[in-house]
Amino acid sequence: MTADIKHGESFEFQAEIKKLLNILSHSLYTHKEVFLRELISNASDALTKMHFYSLSNPDYEGKDLPLEITIDVDEKNKILTISDTGIGMTREEVIQNVGTIAKSGSLEFIANLSEQARKDSNIIGQFGVGFYSVFMVADEVRIRTRSYKKEEPACEWHSDGTGKYFLNPVEKEKRGTDIIVHLKEDEKEYVEKVRIQSIIKKYSNFVSFPIMVCGERANQITAIWKEPKKNVTEEQYNEFYKFISNTEDTPLFRLHTSAEAPIQFSSILYCPSTNYETYGFKKLEHGLQLYSNKILIQSDCKMLLPEYLRFIRGVVDSADIPLNISRETFQDNRMIQKMKSILVKQIITLLQELDKNEKEKYETFWRQFGRILKEGVHIDFENRDLLAQLMRFNSSQCADAAGLVSLKEYVSRMKPEQKEIYYITAVNRDTIEKSPYLEIFRKKEVEVLYLTDPNDEFILSGLHEFEKKPIRSADQANLDLLRDSDKKVVDTSEEPQNYEEIFKHLMKTVKVTLADRVMDVKESNRLVDSPCCLVNPDGVPSVHVQKLIQMVDSNYKISKKIMEINRKNRMIQNLSQMNENPAYQPLIEKMVHQLFENALMQDGVVFDPTSMVSRLNELMEELTKAVLGERKKIII
Ligand code: ADP
Ligand code: MG
Repeated sequence: MTADIKHGESFEFQAEIKKLLNILSHSLYTHKEVFLRELISNASDALTKMHFYSLSNPDYEGKDLPLEITIDVDEKNKILTISDTGIGMTREEVIQNVGTIAKSGSLEFIANLSEQARKDSNIIGQFGVGFYSVFMVADEVRIRTRSYKKEEPACEWHSDGTGKYFLNPVEKEKRGTDIIVHLKEDEKEYVEKVRIQSIIKKYSNFVSFPIMVCGERANQITAIWKEPKKNVTEEQYNEFYKFISNTEDTPLFRLHTSAEAPIQFSSILYCPSTNYETYGFKKLEHGLQLYSNKILIQSDCKMLLPEYLRFIRGVVDSADIPLNISRETFQDNRMIQKMKSILVKQIITLLQELDKNEKEKYETFWRQFGRILKEGVHIDFENRDLLAQLMRFNSSQCADAAGLVSLKEYVSRMKPEQKEIYYITAVNRDTIEKSPYLEIFRKKEVEVLYLTDPNDEFILSGLHEFEKKPIRSADQANLDLLRDSDKKVVDTSEEPQNYEEIFKHLMKTVKVTLADRVMDVKESNRLVDSPCCLVNPDGVPSVHVQKLIQMVDSNYKISKKIMEINRKNRMIQNLSQMNENPAYQPLIEKMVHQLFENALMQDGVVFDPTSMVSRLNELMEELTKAVLGERKKIII
């Protein structure tokens, strides 16, 4: 902080804000007009806070002021002023709220967006950088503000939106905040009354305080959720959604209901068309507003919907809820709990109908919000079966990674003799398709669900079964599918002499060689082409899940597996023969370790590569000797 003769006390913006301002003033936003929505929404927040404060505290500055927003223009000087009679700010609060970005992560998020995505003005409202958007249109902004706290002097903040801002004491009679916007030369449209009115209509029509533009009321307050459905137009629904979600999206679907018994309440719920969580890796905040007979009680009500429905936006209004209910007593309120369970049922029923009647739309929904919805299978015991039906996966039956299959579809396609539902987990479809575990499924034409979201396996293994069919991982040791493979008919004509016996010897060698590295060695009845693979003993989660556990618990050791060997594989047959000659033992041991590590790698387990590389080099040297040895023989 330094003194500046012309401007007053000067402050540097937090470095993050400087970057943000730079992005805002240099990106070409398609809808710069949203700055007005942001300023009005801040004014409305400040008024809402004032409203709540006044409910329980009689003593504060400007007690008789009406709660409203006033917009005035000075066309000649291109100045737009947005005033409110909200809680205002003290000098410290101005420094705190306007000089720093409160929501961590917002800036990194915006800085990492592509140029195209930055132009999408929806982003501005989503990540709490609303106020600064004013610098898209302004070359100077003043904030004059006076707090509701008595005795606090008024204060003026001003900045041109580059590196610094200035603070000065100021005379301001009324409580609240004036935002004085000096428009840039080519942004004069924002002092036109008609333009301002139309922006308010578009974004701020449902603000629950009067907005006066040059003396005229610009917004209408209709509690459309209290109206009968037939009285509400499509346009009103969409406008209300835009207002409530602070975006320009069109919702994917909505649900307008009113209930009489056991509790009287009406609600409009919307499902957005975009999941911003997948953009920013940041958890969405709950977006339900709770009203009691048209009076706002809470604007981000968390108690009315479970976490796994946090993407739903909307309002719930019940006259039965006391106005003075505190956040602490919410959870214990039986009425709230009851409403919550009704709302959840309504949403799930709607999703089921969508799934049944508008499959494509349901899949669009799933691609956006599926990863949030499925969290519910873990948490919501009451609705677990319904949620399981709503889940979608990719599978071996899909043409590509975009295909979706439900558990119901899977079950309907099961082979008559098939008893279990199978899945396999890996990072992506390509990796899964190369997996040796799939060989037997392909041969028997049995469908396998492909799980690529790390959560899916937790969810499926938590479900245990679907429509009484056990759900099993394809890399488990004792699958029902393999049962009849026991009675194998082996074509022995191509096998080496004495194979039964020498193959057993080889298995023994493998077991001794890998004594510390595997749990057991067995003959495989699932492999078709590959020489060997590693399978999990029953009850042990797949390697994929074990790796996830390891990320949280570094002491966790990935459990040992059973090595399965394919007696039909040519290399295994050759190895069995070599194994009969003690001179080859050192070479065989190396190869066995290499085979084991190959199988581990196929499971995505990475380990120190140096020992493996030197072993591979030795093996290749043996190979060159063998090849040249052969040649010599031929030449002679
Ligand atoms: P957000 O509204 O998401 O918190 P903004 O950048 O829009 O982010 O605003 C930053 C902060 O500045 C607000 O949280 C609030 O504390 C303060 N603020 C902005 N405008 C006003 C206003 N009109 N009255 C009181 N405080 C305000
Ligand atoms: Mg804001």
